[in-house]
Amino acid sequence: MNIPLVDLKAQYVSIRNEIDEAIRSVIDSTTFIGGESVAQFERQFASFCGAQYCVGVANGTDALELALTALGVGAGDEVLTAANTFFATAEAIANAGAKVVFVDNDPQSYTIDVSKLRDRITDRTKAIIAVHLYGQPADMEPINAIAEEFGLKVIEDAAQAHGAEYREKRVGTLGDVACFSFYPGKNLGAYGDAGAVVTNNEELSRLIRMRANHGRVQKYDHEFEGMNSRLDSLQAAVLQAKLKHLSSWNEARRKHAAQYNKWLTNPNVVKPVELEYARHVYHLYVVRVKNRKEIHAFLKNRGIGTGIHYPIALPRLKAYEDRSFRPGEFPVAESFMNEILSLPMYPELTEDQIRLVAGSINEFGD
Ligand SMILES: *Cc1c(COP(=O)(O)O)cnc(C)c1O
Repeated sequence: MNIPLVDLKAQYVSIRNEIDEAIRSVIDSTTFIGGESVAQFERQFASFCGAQYCVGVANGTDALELALTALGVGAGDEVLTAANTFFATAEAIANAGAKVVFVDNDPQSYTIDVSKLRDRITDRTKAIIAVHLYGQPADMEPINAIAEEFGLKVIEDAAQAHGAEYREKRVGTLGDVACFSFYPGKNLGAYGDAGAVVTNNEELSRLIRMRANHGRVQKYDHEFEGMNSRLDSLQAAVLQAKLKHLSSWNEARRKHAAQYNKWLTNPNVVKPVELEYARHVYHLYVVRVKNRKEIHAFLKNRGIGTGIHYPIALPRLKAYEDRSFRPGEFPVAESFMNEILSLPMYPELTEDQIRLVAGSINEFGD
């Protein structure tokens, strides 16, 4: 048996006709940039998030940079985000000209530790990027309360959490603006790079749309220098076809997580926790184990793929060497980076496969 970490082929096979037809119709139209597929997807995705505006962009990293810039974040500003997230969250802050300030992760939810936010706020702090890591929303109410107290902007990095809910509200409208990635392996994935910015703020959406398209509204009427970061028509058509299935795919991921929770009985495995406020969409099912290297090899031997998200806490990366962070400054992110292990998770997993993964981990013992 071969059980990969993610299986994009299984998903394509299940909706092959819809995808092929969507792609064919874009090629038939020869509208490759913009056009109906982009406009329709933007409307549908905004509505899926319960938001008023959606701007399709080239990828999730650009979405974050565009959101920051549109909110007025730039040189001399500081932006808070979690020490364990995908590198792009921090990179986008630098791309916008600002400085990233890391905050440790919460030991239970793995999202930003709200109790450690205040300590990191200075006169230069302009915004907080709350990452809905692994598919579970960050604790947005206290984050928004602190933001209000200090006059900060709040950006959701929802790249791993399409359709996740915080107190019965979908991610996308829980801060000033939300950023999504449609990288192929995400819960809603394109067949190439793609991303989106979602907001209820009309002026912000207008600014982001212009900046992502060379600072213009009309073809040669450039109001400022922007960039080229558009969602292309083929990707939009693929996303439109896949959006119809997203809720049932997220449902399947939740069911798989519940089965892992039930069948993983090895006492040395720390399972993920869905917080009382959250509806987790399990982009990743991440456990913690002490002997990760051995378990990884043991599972690999049985044809079971696992991953590590992420193996190096961001403050420990070479990219931040010059910041001279003290070892132990981010105790949760730094100790968990040696223990976290992502188990196979995708909608098309079968019960038998989950039983086999859980059984193998139980068998491994300690
Ligand atoms: C994937 C991801 C991004 C970046 O998205 P890209 O589309 O790959 O640029 C940003 N933040 C998080 C948390 C991600 O998982």
